[in-house]
Amino acid sequence: MTEEITIIGGGLTGLSLAVGLRANGIPVTLHEAGQYPRHRVCGEFISGVSEETLNYLAISSTLADAARHSTVSWFRGNSLLRENRLPTPALSISRHLLDNRLRHLAAEEGATILTGSRQKITPNTPGSVWAAGRKPVNGTWIGLKAHLRGVETTSHLEMHSGPIGYLGITPVEDGWHNVCGLFRIDRSITARHADLLPAYVRENGNTRLADLLASAEWKEDSFTAVAGFGLGLQEPTPGVLSLGDSHAIIPPFTGNGMTMAFQSAEIALPVLTRFAEGDFDWQTACSTITTAHRKTFRKRLTAAKLLHPLLFENAALPLLKHAPLSPILNLIR
Ligand SMILES: Cc1cc2nc3c(=O)[nH]c(=O)nc-3n(C[C@H](O)[C@H](O)[C@H](O)COP(=O)(O)OP(=O)(O)OC[C@H]3O[C@@H](n4cnc5c(N)ncnc54)[C@H](O)[C@@H]3O)c2cc1C
Repeated sequence: MTEEITIIGGGLTGLSLAVGLRANGIPVTLHEAGQYPRHRVCGEFISGVSEETLNYLAISSTLADAARHSTVSWFRGNSLLRENRLPTPALSISRHLLDNRLRHLAAEEGATILTGSRQKITPNTPGSVWAAGRKPVNGTWIGLKAHLRGVETTSHLEMHSGPIGYLGITPVEDGWHNVCGLFRIDRSITARHADLLPAYVRENGNTRLADLLASAEWKEDSFTAVAGFGLGLQEPTPGVLSLGDSHAIIPPFTGNGMTMAFQSAEIALPVLTRFAEGDFDWQTACSTITTAHRKTFRKRLTAAKLLHPLLFENAALPLLKHAPLSPILNLIR
């Protein structure tokens, strides 16, 4: 008899894994705490994902019409530091659209998707996969995101950095731009809700951009914020198979977190399929997947951890300005 796989968390990791498992004929139930569609804090810029990964997970159709982006410019304060062409185009699509498409695809393929279903971690439960995103901690970061119109950019991705953080602007669909930043929490900023975004951008020294954001059209209900998370490897819970952001969070400047979510599902898919078919016991499945995660992601997590603090340092400006792009991209994806 084929075992069922239970997935907790319906973000990119959980949903793409659900589609892949169903394509292999494995019964799947996915529990998602929230509802679809919904806006999420994310730069929505997918760098480094391969066609092979998307095809293997059987999810290529959900990204077929995603925007292809190839130019990047980097600003410090109000000054342009550099402009580059990416060696391979990145994809861009809102999470509002992508997660919803994946949810429908998983359901069409026969997965049971339960929304509004928040689950507790239950260690040592064979067939249960934790894909519920970042582990809550007292973090020092805040992530802010909204969709805006009227913020035309000179390249497909504009990065604006400063001493407390950075923010990317990229077109998604229907004329809207994703505006998303990661900042060190600054308790002196008293703005609330959507006003937090221009307030952090101004505090970061990107004053021209802050003025632009304040005068742009904001998509209703698109503002989202997240805090209380740490970057890098997440504290493992013994006896729990953690995938995607639950395993590790790469700093967002890499544009590689969504790719890692898909790759995490790609690593887990063949092993969970064999577990479900009775070829592996649960212990073997978990240790095989966890080992493969460490091996696949170690280099880029280490490189991103070392590079990340440099983005905030004035002393590192020459590096930010002149370092060749391709070798850096090879390190962080
Ligand atoms: C500021 C910021 C900007 C970013 N920008 C980019 C970018 O431009 N490009 C990029 O590639 N990556 C980016 N990322 C990273 C990217 O968003 C994540 O890596 C990706 O969303 C991880 O997917 P996931 O499915 O593992 O986790 P998530 O997308 O977080 O999904 C987890 C799901 O689990 C659900 N859940 C949580 N707890 C429970 C529970 N107890 N029971 C049931 N369900 C639960 C949640 O509701 C959620 O839907 C950014 C991240 C941040 C913070």
